[in-house]
Amino acid sequence: MSDRRMYLFVLLLFGVCGCERKLEMVSSREDPADEPNVKIEAEYVAQVQKCLWFEDKVAAYTISFDDARASHYQVAGPLLHQRNICGTFFINTREIKDWSGWQNLADMGHEIGSHTWSHPRMTALTEAQQRAELEHAIFDIRSNLRGAPPVYSFCYPYGLFDDALRRVVQEYHISARGGGGVNRSGLSDEALTMVRGSGVYPPYDMTLFARILAEALSKKGWVNVYFHSVSARDDSNDTTIPLRRFIEHLDDVEKVRGQLWIATQAQVANYIRLHRDAGIKVEEIDQVSIKISLERLPENISDISRLTVKLALPNHWRNHKILWRKGNQKSQEIVNADGDRVYLHIGRDETVFLEAKMNKKR
Ligand SMILES: [Zn+2]
Repeated sequence: MSDRRMYLFVLLLFGVCGCERKLEMVSSREDPADEPNVKIEAEYVAQVQKCLWFEDKVAAYTISFDDARASHYQVAGPLLHQRNICGTFFINTREIKDWSGWQNLADMGHEIGSHTWSHPRMTALTEAQQRAELEHAIFDIRSNLRGAPPVYSFCYPYGLFDDALRRVVQEYHISARGGGGVNRSGLSDEALTMVRGSGVYPPYDMTLFARILAEALSKKGWVNVYFHSVSARDDSNDTTIPLRRFIEHLDDVEKVRGQLWIATQAQVANYIRLHRDAGIKVEEIDQVSIKISLERLPENISDISRLTVKLALPNHWRNHKILWRKGNQKSQEIVNADGDRVYLHIGRDETVFLEAKMNKKR
C-alpha cells in the first residue's frame, strides 16, 4: 500500500451506511475562495479509471445471516456494530411478532433482506405462490420497519432455485444469494440472481473461511459468508455456531480488513452494476476546474453505493492546494496534496467539482 500514500484521498460523504470507513479529509481553515486559481495546462487529458471495488479495495466481503433468529439482533448485531461492520440479515417474516430487534439492526445500518414469508421450498411452488411469498415478505419488512426500507436483496430458502424462479425473483430484488463459492467481479444482472455464498456449518472450522477470504483476495472477487444462529452460551448444533468460533471469524476478517471492502449484499450488488455499466464524464471548465459525474447508469440503480474513480490531476496542479465540492456545498481541501491523483466516490446523482488554488507557502 505504500505507493498509495502519494495519492490524494477524498471523502465524499456517505450518508447511507454508518459503517462506511471515513477517508482522511479536513475542512479548509480559511475560505480559499479569493485565492487565485491554478490553470490547467493545455495538454492535459483527463485520465480516469473506475476502481474494481469501493475505495480501491482488493476484494469485497459480505457477512449475512439467515432465518430470522433472535441471536441475530441479540448477539451478532451488537458484535458487528462494535467492529463497524454492516451485515445483511435475511428474514422470513411469517413468525415475526416483535420487530424491535430488526428495527435496531436496521437503525445500525444493517441491511434487512428477504428470505421469503414462510421459508418454503420455492421451486415446488407455482409462480403465483412464489410471487405471493416474495410480495408478502417485502410488504412485512416495509410496513414494519420505520422508513419502509427497500428490500434489495433476497436469499433462496434451502439454496433452492431454478431458472424460472430466478426470473421471478429478479423482478423484485437486485440480487439473490444461492449456490456456493467466491464470486468474481463484473457479474451480469442474471448472475446477480445466483450470488454465491459460503455457509458456515459444523464442525465450525474457521480456518476454512480464512482460506476463503484469502481466495477472494487473490481473485479480486466477492465473498459472502453466511451464518444461522450465534450462541452466546457457546452452544453448538447444525445451524448454531458457538460465539467463540464466530468471533474467531470476525478476527480473521479484521486481519485482512485493509484490503477488504466490507459491505452489505445490496451495496456490493449495486456497486458491481455501477462499475460494470456506468461511464464517467469529465469536463474541464474555464481552464481552471474539472467537473466529474457518472453517465449511462444501469436501470434501477440506487444511491446506496458510490463508484470510486481514480483521476490523474493536471501537472500544473501539483504542489498546490486541491479543493473539491459537490454541487453547491462549501469547498473542502484535499489533504496529503503532494501526489498526482485523487480518488473520488461519485454517486448516482452527484457531480464533483475540483479546482486548485495557489499555495502561497511555496
Ligand atoms: Zn433459511
